Amino acid sequence: MFDLSEDHRAIRDMARDFARSEIMPGAGERDKSHIFPKEIFDQLAELGLMGVFVPEEYGGSGLDIFSYVLALEEICYADAGVGVTMSVQNSLAGWPVLAFGTHEQKLKYLAPMATGEKIGCYALTEPEAGSDAGAQRTKATRDGDDYVLDGTKMWITNGPNADICVTYGNMDVEARHRGVCAFIVEADMDGYSVGKIEEKMGIHCSSTSELVFEGLRVPSDNLLGEERGGFKVAMATLDGGRIGIAAQALGIAQRAYDLAVQYAKERKTFGKPIANHQAIQWKIADMRTRIEAARLLTHKAAWLKDQGHLGSLECSMAKLYASECANFCAYEAVQIFGGYGYSQEYEVERLYRDARITTLYEGTSEIQRLVIAKNALR
Ligand SMILES: Cc1cc2nc3c(=O)[nH]c(=O)nc-3n(C[C@H](O)[C@H](O)[C@H](O)COP(=O)(O)OP(=O)(O)OC[C@H]3O[C@@H](n4cnc5c(N)ncnc54)[C@H](O)[C@@H]3O)c2cc1C
Repeated sequence: MFDLSEDHRAIRDMARDFARSEIMPGAGERDKSHIFPKEIFDQLAELGLMGVFVPEEYGGSGLDIFSYVLALEEICYADAGVGVTMSVQNSLAGWPVLAFGTHEQKLKYLAPMATGEKIGCYALTEPEAGSDAGAQRTKATRDGDDYVLDGTKMWITNGPNADICVTYGNMDVEARHRGVCAFIVEADMDGYSVGKIEEKMGIHCSSTSELVFEGLRVPSDNLLGEERGGFKVAMATLDGGRIGIAAQALGIAQRAYDLAVQYAKERKTFGKPIANHQAIQWKIADMRTRIEAARLLTHKAAWLKDQGHLGSLECSMAKLYASECANFCAYEAVQIFGGYGYSQEYEVERLYRDARITTLYEGTSEIQRLVIAKNALR
């Protein structure tokens, strides 16, 4: 637990080398251009990072969740906007098909996502169903052998670029989560369209949009899991996704820390490096300690998931702590950079904006605390 196996070290180092040589140099430019980096997506796929824990028979790398977490932290260290695309492809679009899909669904949908041939997205959130995900209003109506979906999803990462979408519709809105079904839909099906593109505070190169379903006819073969069993699919998927966001947060935190340490040694005030001022040393100590704690929580959650433990508690604790750690570290890094930290010329300014999303998506910090408290008070 406290050291990596040779295999785990190898995947981490491979992802680190790629991230620092191929992703990091363009991160600032992508932040300004907001352009989704399809070429990096393809390179990540070639390295097997778009289906890290997908078995080889379905086109994946056949590794474990721990490997995925190690690789994702490295990608997010270089560019958290690229990292979230990888995270959605693996955790949110790929994992539910792996866990709940039929063999045919895995061949048809999981395999092209794992090889990077197709881009996946996960559409649960609606204008009035975010934290309260059971309040799904997208209607799912049975019509012969098909289901017909009508509704709008919002805040969908990879939305404008996705070919395959794992989504949800409700057969009985009054019954709330008990009426929810999960579906795999294709972007070129009639009735599927991309709505408003969101302009965001950070993770600019990841694309985010509404998805609009108008009379979207989905064959019953595309039902994922059981009819009205979709909420279980959604929640189980988010548990794993939260470990991915914890890894994303760790990457941001570690980068902020490394930049802050380097700058503190170089920048001089009152005739000495600011690293010699105790106030700065305390910030560095707090950042380092929190990163270490966040990494242990994240690695433990991934390890438990690899052992078949499907509980939410450790996933929520890792996500809560790592995301708040990323915000803390980015805040302190900007502080250590002083006025320069507020300038777009310095990377910590981007990290500060990128960190902000981690306490919001895949369950806000308040929702993680609800999950943890529910478990504690059971
Ligand atoms: C950039 C971005 C990308 C995203 N990507 C995706 C995606 O790919 N797929 C997808 O389905 N969704 C995605 N989301 C949606 C995201 O998961 C939701 O925004 C998030 O779950 C919060 O929902 P909400 O925005 O509706 O906030 P609300 O649910 O309206 O919450 C507002 C505030 O109230 C608090 N709150 C709500 N309920 C409670 C409660 N019971 N107790 C205490 N506090 C509470 C919240 O913590 C928050 O502070 C994305 C969002 C963003 C911003």
